[in-house]
Order: sequence, then structure tokens, then C-alpha cells
Amino acid sequence: MTQPRIPLAGVIGSPIAHSRSPLLHGHWLRTYGIRGHYIPMDVHENDLERVLRTLPAMGFVGVNVTVPHKEKVMAFADQITDRAILIGAANTLIFRNAGSILADNTDGYGFIENLRSGAPDWRAESGPALVLGAGGAARAVISSLVDAGVPEVVLSNRTRLRAERLKADFGHRIRVVDWVQAGSAVKDAALVVNTTSLGMSGQPALSVPLDGLHPGMVVTDLVYTPLETGLLAAARKAGCTTVDGLGMLLFQAVPGFERWFGTRPEIDEATRAAALK
Ligand code: NAP
Repeated sequence: MTQPRIPLAGVIGSPIAHSRSPLLHGHWLRTYGIRGHYIPMDVHENDLERVLRTLPAMGFVGVNVTVPHKEKVMAFADQITDRAILIGAANTLIFRNAGSILADNTDGYGFIENLRSGAPDWRAESGPALVLGAGGAARAVISSLVDAGVPEVVLSNRTRLRAERLKADFGHRIRVVDWVQAGSAVKDAALVVNTTSLGMSGQPALSVPLDGLHPGMVVTDLVYTPLETGLLAAARKAGCTTVDGLGMLLFQAVPGFERWFGTRPEIDEATRAAALK
């Protein structure tokens, strides 16, 4: 009698040693008693296609994709979800019959679910969202905010051209302001989101003036090392509701785990603790 295959999944990036995804998925596999494995894989760009074509035959049911391959993997997908097309990048691949690849992007889903979970009183329609940064993560954040019904996204990035490109892709609800003007947009925002890498351990601090922060606002940071960034500390002191970035990492992992291993995982304190080990 043939035995069922043990499902394998993992994360592809380079470097990959810092990734918290193996801790997270490993925790869920143990919690739900699933006989599967989730493996970090450091893959060079030149080997990406060959690796992706080989993994299904080895028993892989899918992989997460992280920096620097999120855009490049799109070229090897047989099918791409609408949200991944809009964002222009994929972070979750599902291997289907005979190795065909479905590419999805769950970062926007992870962002909005984390926001709703950490700030349950936040309403998309309550006012403009100020988004700092216009890199890959900002594309996912903006697509989810526009989808949720935010009336206006005020977008500010050091390199203005990158923000203008995002506006061209996401439409009229985006208003671009110069990076030096970002501070003056804070006071009118219902939501402030840092999608830059500023404030991360080892990176410069976020230089945007924050005196416009006030109670009633929601402030969230995609950076989660440290968990309380300078932005979140200032927001907490100003009486804002704050949401840290670790939850986004946890929530974005849920759809992949469910597709690969057949169980929708819960996010609780034990999940957070596992990802922080
Ligand atoms: P990216 O595409 O490289 O974009 C980096 C962004 O940071 C750009 O807007 C860049 O501005 C800005 N930036 C970098 N250095 C700056 C400086 N010195 N002054 C002003 N702006 C600066 O990176 P990404 O993929 O979007 O990721 C951004 C951050 O989000 C990272 O810290 C990443 O770890 C985090 N992230 C977290 C999650 C999560 O699950 N919590 C998910 C995805 C990403 P320019 O365009 O001017 O260079």
C-alpha cells in the first residue's frame, strides 16, 4: 500500500537565515499535529526557476517567497491572482497538479487583518491614511487600504518618482506629497503607516516630524525589530492606538498554511511568542 506523502513547504529568499517564517509554520505544524515540514531555502536568482520546477516533484506543496525574489517569481507562475498582479509581486506560491504554479500575494491581507485585529475601532472610511514609503511593502499596504475603502491615501516617499508610479497604478485616491512635507500631513490622518525600513534595528531613525500625532489616530509600523519602534513609542505617548508589525507577518502566513496543510491556523499569544524566539 502506498503511504501518503508528507507535505513539504518552505521559504525561498537570499539571505534567509533571519526569516521568522520557519519558526511560525513549525509552531503551527506542531500545534495542529500535522506531519509536514517547513524549510528555509537560500536560493540564488540564477537557480530560481530550476528550483521552482524541481520542488513539486520532491513533495513540496508550495513555498513562501521573500526578498529579493518576490517580483521575479511572477515570471515562472502559470497563474497569478488579481491581487498579486496589482501588487506586482508574489509572496505565496501554491504548487498544483503536475507542478503548475499559482502565485498569490497575501501581504496586503496580512496588513489589513493585523490592523483590524490590533485596532478594532478603526474604520476605513474614518479619514485619510498617511503612508510613508513607496517600496514593495507599500504597494501591498496601499492596495489593501484602497480595497478597504479608505477615502484618500496620502503617500510620501524619499524618492518621489516611486510614489508617483504607485499613484499611476492605484489611481485617483492617492495623493503624493514630498518627503519633506510628510510631517505636515500627520495631523489630518486617521491612520499613519510606516512602510519604510527606517526605525528598524541597525537602520536610521524615522526622521518625519511627529508633533501632529494626537489621540483618536491609529499608527502602525511594518518594522517589527524592535517591536516598539520610535514611531510607535511616540504614538503611544501621544495617546494614539498603536499596532506593531509582527502581526502582519503572522497574518500574511495564514492563507499559505491553510492551502498547503489543510488547516486554518489561529493567531494567538503562543503564535507571537513562537515567531519571536
Ligand atoms: P523596499 O522595497 O526596499 O522599500 C524601502 C522603503 O524604505 C522605500 O520607500 C525607501 O525609500 C525607504 N527608505 C529606505 N531608506 C530610507 C532613508 N534613509 N530615508 C528615507 N526613506 C528610506 O522594502 P520593502 O519590501 O517595501 O520593505 C520595507 C520595510 O517593511 C522593511 O523594513 C521590511 O522589513 C518591512 N516589511 C514588513 C513586513 C511585515 O510583515 N511586518 C512585510 C513586508 C515588509 P526610497 O524609495 O527613496 O529608497
